[in-house]
Amino acid sequence: MKTASIVGAGLVGSLWAVYLTKAGYKVQLFERRPDIRKAEISAGKSINLALSTRGWKALDTVGVGDAVREIAIPMSGRIMHDLESNLTYQPYGKEGQAIYSVSRGGVNARMMDIAEATGQAEIFYNEKCVGTDLENGIVFLENSETGKKWEVKSDVVFASDGAFSAVRYNAMQKLDRFNYSQNYIEDGYREILLPANEDGSYKLDKNALHIWPRGRFMLIALPNEDGSFTCTLFMPFNGPNSFKTLTSKEAVDNFFQSTFPDFYTMMPNIADAWEDHPLSSLAIVRCYPWTHGKTALMGDAAHATVPFYGQGMNCGFEDCSVMWELMQKHNEDWPKVFEEYQQLRKPDGDGVQDLSLHNYYVMRDYVGDPKFLLQKKIEAHFSEKHPEKWLPLYSQVTFSHIRYSEAWKTGQKQDAIMKNVMAQFEDIENVWNSEAVENAILAELN
Ligand code: FAD
Repeated sequence: MKTASIVGAGLVGSLWAVYLTKAGYKVQLFERRPDIRKAEISAGKSINLALSTRGWKALDTVGVGDAVREIAIPMSGRIMHDLESNLTYQPYGKEGQAIYSVSRGGVNARMMDIAEATGQAEIFYNEKCVGTDLENGIVFLENSETGKKWEVKSDVVFASDGAFSAVRYNAMQKLDRFNYSQNYIEDGYREILLPANEDGSYKLDKNALHIWPRGRFMLIALPNEDGSFTCTLFMPFNGPNSFKTLTSKEAVDNFFQSTFPDFYTMMPNIADAWEDHPLSSLAIVRCYPWTHGKTALMGDAAHATVPFYGQGMNCGFEDCSVMWELMQKHNEDWPKVFEEYQQLRKPDGDGVQDLSLHNYYVMRDYVGDPKFLLQKKIEAHFSEKHPEKWLPLYSQVTFSHIRYSEAWKTGQKQDAIMKNVMAQFEDIENVWNSEAVENAILAELN
């Protein structure tokens, strides 16, 4: 029987296991943590995530989309909360389009259940990968409870062990001519659980992603199935408005009361809950090559990114659907599959990282800038009139299968066009929806 090892049974590893069982592999997954279905999911990683079109395709291709739909909450737009507690709604896409809030643990557990139910996948917990023989497909393991060391050899090895991948660190980074970079951004994040009302109902509209944009920092909230919201505060580690200034209960209380007044009304005990989740950092990790010998990196292990486009998991899931297509194309001739996989996917890994960083700057520096908002208004107006000529960047990334690298290029081109057009009209604020502006965009496009 064909055999495969997967290091890391997180979101990508557990989905990829389902794919491999479908192809007839005997799959062994090695996971550093205990079984999340029995233990509390470890804190510090986002509790829920936004799943969008690319993720759904990868789930549906292997027939597990419906199992996730059962636990997915549609969010058709974002609701912005200003300082005076006024709400503004912005749809994410066209009528009927939405992104979906899903529980990290929920999706992970379902993928594990489905993989195991095939009878072809076995998950080993508390097994930390401590080394890899990339050429020969050998994974070296150490049990965190017993200390026992052992090794497993298989036909092919997949490393989906996350941003700080042990396979990458212990083996790939030791290779000659292996490129690697790791960059932390200035901001970190802390999660806060906004509980449900006493009767179990939601405190906020559940079919939206809520944002409290405050210039250099922001709070967001995504709904959970039990009526609660998982909220995340993104802000710099240092500086005037930073985590460094929120070190006492009093400071946290004052900060929320003055900065997020409507949130504070819903959660006046915020200062007591402040330490429930750790302060975590955010980094972009780039590397290449992604494969060597019998081993390939997938998901965050290959292309960890910052979460400002909500695409990390979606991109990792897309790795699975792409790898699957290449398996069919090359009849499981792994050297050929791996070579095409890394050549095809590396630009898209870079693309999703560029897009995520770009959105970080947009949210940080431009979201309140009237000129930027006007540009987005003109783009939306033009796109409505000429949908075949202009798909807004957000829709390209979130609601299409256009390659991330293409979307990034098109987005930059669109931005340059808009800057040129806006510079042509002194009174652009008054003529933004005029035929003259429309024609100027058409001329630039041609
Ligand atoms: P992981 O989920 O990190 O899983 C890796 C697994 O490998 C873990 O189970 C880990 O325990 C295990 N492991 C690690 N080392 C070893 C070892 N040595 N041996 C054995 N096992 C090991 N993405 C979205 O698409 N939408 C979002 O809305 C979104 N929001 C996010 C919000 C935040 C705050 C953050 C931080 C990320 C967000 N992401 C989002 C990104 C998403 O979380 C990741 O892209 C996704 O988890 C990657 O999945 P993965 O399986 O590659 O890695």
